[in-house]
Amino acid sequence: MKRQKLTGLLLACLLVLGGCVPSSAPPDHAPSPPAASSSVPSSLAPESKISLSETWGEAGSAKTLTGSTLVVNLFLSDAESQWDSQSRTDAMEMLEEAFAFLTEEAARYGQEIRLTQTDKLASYYLTFDQAVEDNLEYYQWTDQMLPQNGFADFAALLEDAVKQAGEAYDNVAAIVHLNKPGRSYALPFHRGNEEKYQAEHLVMFFNEDASHPYYICPAAYAHELLHLFGAKDLYDPDGQNAAVKELAQSVCEDDIMLSISSNLYSRRVEDFTAHSVGWLTELPEEFASLAQVLNQEAEKGESHEDMQSAALPGGRTKKIYEKSVSVPRLHMFG
Ligand SMILES: [Zn+2]
Repeated sequence: MKRQKLTGLLLACLLVLGGCVPSSAPPDHAPSPPAASSSVPSSLAPESKISLSETWGEAGSAKTLTGSTLVVNLFLSDAESQWDSQSRTDAMEMLEEAFAFLTEEAARYGQEIRLTQTDKLASYYLTFDQAVEDNLEYYQWTDQMLPQNGFADFAALLEDAVKQAGEAYDNVAAIVHLNKPGRSYALPFHRGNEEKYQAEHLVMFFNEDASHPYYICPAAYAHELLHLFGAKDLYDPDGQNAAVKELAQSVCEDDIMLSISSNLYSRRVEDFTAHSVGWLTELPEEFASLAQVLNQEAEKGESHEDMQSAALPGGRTKKIYEKSVSVPRLHMFG
């Protein structure tokens, strides 16, 4: 299941189809947040007397990919890029395609899930006075950006979004959308990382130019969203994860965590990833070796299990994928 074996020094995990991030120390070493009390309701009732973030515990705001999920869109214009109405529409349509894919895949496991994104009215339109770098090591920029827009942190923003929605959700997460090329990444919560990462979020660079190694497509949204719910990368971005990739190729070669494609439905959520996001309670025996290798990797990379980053759409051709995996390894999961 999600979020295991993580020691106390971690940050969020960025999963990028491309590289694993740096071992730079986390900005601060906050103690592990208290475990969620069993008396805490699983649904996030906006009118609840306890604050929403108090219900997130050690699973974060995106727990298992079951029940209902609100995805909060943050369209960010930075010092060098802006959003226009058409691009916003295109991004939201791609996200909706990813939702449809995930909903169908969940149904194959008997899970009826409901994914909802904030519409244009309920989405957030933010600005940032700096140019966001296409650099996974620079993920802390999100902490500086939100206060410029009147929110202390992601928890405050997500709480506001759920309140505005006026409805209870089992999970909530944010996507910071940037209208420029770059390598997208996920910042999921893991037990022991700073409390602020309980409010889980993605940074997605919207760029439809397929000549860019990280052009956007619905599969990239699906891949990244799965990270927030506990899915791990199964590819080998830089030759340091060969055992994982090799095992994955033998037992779940179509899995969307192994590679993504502009042809979304050529990918699947196979049993291993289904188990990691809560769709299967028991991991089938054939995946035991893969789980073991991933756990070993997590132990080795403890202090850089910071971030896991995004997917690059490789599947259009294998060559694009291979090209993408030549990106220098950062201290993140790719
Ligand atoms: Zn990934």
